[in-house]
Amino acid sequence: MPLELVIATRNRKKIEEIKRILQGVPVALFALDDVPGCPEVEEDADTFEGNAVKKALAVARYSGKPAIADDSGLEVYALNGAPGVWSARYAGADADDRKNLEKLLSELRGVEEEKRGARFVCCVALAFPDGRVETFPGFVGGRIGTEPKGFSGFGYDPVFYPKGHDKTFAEMSADEKDALSHRGVALRKLRIYLSSFIVG
Ligand code: IMP
Repeated sequence: MPLELVIATRNRKKIEEIKRILQGVPVALFALDDVPGCPEVEEDADTFEGNAVKKALAVARYSGKPAIADDSGLEVYALNGAPGVWSARYAGADADDRKNLEKLLSELRGVEEEKRGARFVCCVALAFPDGRVETFPGFVGGRIGTEPKGFSGFGYDPVFYPKGHDKTFAEMSADEKDALSHRGVALRKLRIYLSSFIVG
């Protein structure tokens, strides 16, 4: 019987990325909707790892099944690492992707190209109902453009040029983004871990 895992996120785009990258691993993936009554977790830790572990543990303990959660965000060097763990709420409590992106571009207005370095960070946590946790970090470096380009992906994708590429993440296919992205890097580590866990 495949290992049953709950994906502890309600972000549809992230769920798609996680499913794509774990394709072929003998696990049965459940969504939070399959766990009625699962409490919402406040992302109040000051690190990506802290938030990912908190979300995965809460869902694993509640559901009785191992759970995976990711916490991720964008760190811009010229902004001292902002928006960081606040990436989803950068433009305030009613922020959405468009408002966050506009705020980022306005904070960077006038900053020249070579000072627009940034990285996406991801921490994937796998938690078990007994409290054990494994974490898998991933990073991708790049720079922030001056205007949005492309329509794929989500969040800050339209302004993020991964290092060595002249297309933003939002101009890439899902497979191209997965091969480079912080979440792709972290999930491939999880994939290797799960494969050995299941076979061994
Ligand atoms: P989380 O749901 O708390 O992990 O929020 C992550 C936030 O970081 C998202 O709302 C996006 O704003 C940003 N983010 C994380 N990963 C990506 C990505 O792959 N592309 C674009 N934005 C991302």
